[in-house]
Amino acid sequence: MNAVKMNVPFFKASIGSEEEKAVIDVMRSGWLTTGSQALAFEKEFSEKVHSPFALCVNSNTSGMILAMEALGVNRENAVITTPYTFVSTAASARHLGADVFFADIEKDSYSIDPNSIEKILKSPDGKKVKAIVPVHIAGNVCNMNAIMNLAEKYNVKVIEDCAHSFPSKTQSGYAGTIGDAGIFSFYATKTMTTAEGGMVTVKDSAVAKRITQMRLHGMDRTTWDRYTSPKASWEYDIIAPGYKANLPDILAALGRVQLKRAEEFDRKRKIHAAYYNSNLKKLDFIKLPPDSEGNAWHLYLMRLDLSKLKCSRDDFARELQQMGVGISMHFIPLFNFSYWKNLYHGFTPENFPNAQQHYLETITLPLWPDMTEEMCAYVVDCIKTIGEKYHG
Ligand SMILES: *Cc1c(COP(=O)(O)O)cnc(C)c1O
Repeated sequence: MNAVKMNVPFFKASIGSEEEKAVIDVMRSGWLTTGSQALAFEKEFSEKVHSPFALCVNSNTSGMILAMEALGVNRENAVITTPYTFVSTAASARHLGADVFFADIEKDSYSIDPNSIEKILKSPDGKKVKAIVPVHIAGNVCNMNAIMNLAEKYNVKVIEDCAHSFPSKTQSGYAGTIGDAGIFSFYATKTMTTAEGGMVTVKDSAVAKRITQMRLHGMDRTTWDRYTSPKASWEYDIIAPGYKANLPDILAALGRVQLKRAEEFDRKRKIHAAYYNSNLKKLDFIKLPPDSEGNAWHLYLMRLDLSKLKCSRDDFARELQQMGVGISMHFIPLFNFSYWKNLYHGFTPENFPNAQQHYLETITLPLWPDMTEEMCAYVVDCIKTIGEKYHG
């Protein structure tokens, strides 16, 4: 064990002088909100992931609500998603009045299990389902072949929660371009950031149009168009009670620089993850995280084999924190929260044993582009020390 204590933050965004300049340029331009920067950001993002449409929004959460709305999720139907996610994935469906059915995750991964999805689709509840909402946890793309087959067989939509999976890439294309919609997050701790923000990718032009209108009050014209087109700026129609979910140019400009650096970030994350993997695989009390094809490595989910340790996951996590290692937990399965457990009769841990067990055994380690190898080595040393102390 290194004698010197270090502080390794859980996350630190990589923001350089190019990002600073881009933001200042927008502030000096006099046009602060959604305009030419947002348009350029959408174009560059759609080219990067090869999606016919990319629409920027002020968060993944807004994007999820907008995509669900445009694809027909409403109070008459339901979505199937995983309890192993951040709350907004499931709450978005509730905002639209839809029911939420949870499918458990796989036994050896954090991904939603196609077999448990099909169980719901085959049950009497199945007729209510409008969409499957897989979440590519930590950057591992779910079994999209199986999910797309189910979608076709049962005639339901697929909405990918891509908050962790930029730029995860599979043989079927980038995550977020396989289903009917993909929703990315540019929240401060994600693989690229606009501080707050998100992007929706869709294939269908009518769906893209609906999202474009609903993200700005249900107006049939964008603000930018109203100020730049020769048509009178005060003429517009309102086609529905819309939302306010547009991304300002200050943030879009930041996103454009981050997008340009996406490959650099991706390469650095993969180096750190490989370092953790090669060192932690020697420890018998660690189960290495899944690493599916094209994994973006947003998070390093370290799973403890508690049968080898005389301590709980929480004890282990607390000791890491005391040694200066920033950690997190992803995620408390949603059926543990009072709103969700009170919502439906079956939302109990016993009905989703894989999600509950993964949660009770998992600690998320620091993983961010500008971490040094010294930091990674310190994290590994701390894990070894704690493991030796509690080894059974
Ligand atoms: C972060 C996150 C979201 C929400 O993203 P916001 O941009 O903050 O709205 C949704 N789903 C998952 C899985 C997330 O981790």
